[in-house]
Amino acid sequence: MGKRSGRQGRRKKLELALNEAMKAEADVQDNKKEAEEPQAKERRLPSVFGVADLKNGAVGLYNVGQSCCLNSLLQVFFMNIHFTGILRRIIVPPHAAQKRRNVPYQMLLLLEEMQCGKQKAVSPIDFACCLSEYKVKLFVQHDAAQLFLTLWNLIKKQIKKPELGVKGRSCSPVNGEKCPVHIEDLSDLYTICVQEHLACQKCSSETKRNTSMLTLPLPVLNYNSQMLKTLEDCLQYFFHPEELTDHNMCFCEQCGKRTPFLQSMKLVHLPQTLTIHLKRFCFEKSAYVHKLSHYLPFPQELDFNAVLTENQCQAGDNEKAAWQYELFAVVAHSGSTSCGHYCAYIRSLTECKWYCFNDSEVCQVSWDDVKSTYGHSSLHWGETAYLLIYMKKHSQ
Ligand code: ZN
Repeated sequence: MGKRSGRQGRRKKLELALNEAMKAEADVQDNKKEAEEPQAKERRLPSVFGVADLKNGAVGLYNVGQSCCLNSLLQVFFMNIHFTGILRRIIVPPHAAQKRRNVPYQMLLLLEEMQCGKQKAVSPIDFACCLSEYKVKLFVQHDAAQLFLTLWNLIKKQIKKPELGVKGRSCSPVNGEKCPVHIEDLSDLYTICVQEHLACQKCSSETKRNTSMLTLPLPVLNYNSQMLKTLEDCLQYFFHPEELTDHNMCFCEQCGKRTPFLQSMKLVHLPQTLTIHLKRFCFEKSAYVHKLSHYLPFPQELDFNAVLTENQCQAGDNEKAAWQYELFAVVAHSGSTSCGHYCAYIRSLTECKWYCFNDSEVCQVSWDDVKSTYGHSSLHWGETAYLLIYMKKHSQ
């Protein structure tokens, strides 16, 4: 399940971002080979509608082999009109074998089936089979944060195939067709940028490094293992400077030895769709993973300028002016770490109403129902929010 919470979690967050960066490097290598294959003639699905958002009413996804986690994430992707706008512009792979293995294409087929059919729910089995080609298995309880990262990496990698345009190169729409997907579009939509500062406490030397992340992995406990009380507290804690002393000291080139350092994180850029990962699965103190289900409210509207101090930001006025968010979706987990279930609460962007997507069952819900995922310390089976997806109020 999820990564470490609390003190050790602080060190983990950069590893996560690094992992992603390294994966991206490897993807570039992979793609070199595949780019040599004959380039597909531009072919797009003729019948895909504009948006996912409830055109024919909300459609569920059947649970095929414990796919509740996958189903919840798919619904979050599909209800995001900014994402489906990108997905619609992919080019259909030319060969049947490539079609079967292409994650964005299979995702588009599933979306089309959900939109065209008059069924209450459709089966994601073809999509799940496509994922199994990449070692994403059925009949396994996935961690939503990890599966989101895996899905996103697969989509990004496969959308980057030869058909992908390069931004800046001329690609004016011909015959009313949309431009092909730019990888920057997908990155712009989801990628967070932070700057890590490391300052030696003996001399004045400081290093800075920009890192991109797909989610903000927020600890829900502080370094004393006390529960943080609100989402805003978790954000402040994440961006709070940390002293690296004793066995956490780093080597300073100026001083020529290991010295205490001050590590801090500054927010550089926030994307259109911001995914926050509440690190409720805790590995600390034993090999046994336990779930932290305590009460942790999150707001419908989130202004990062009101949460972070000047020192915790490294951004210009234009960037910061856009840091106004509205809650779009909550991926909630119920049950224990070994036996659980996921569902997704999503606010329709066209109707501004909340829906609960629980596999094949979809129903309209109230904000009070969404708030029931805040958690409770004596919670045994009830739902707790695990991923929070916020959207910028004003698209740029
Ligand atoms: Zn030093």
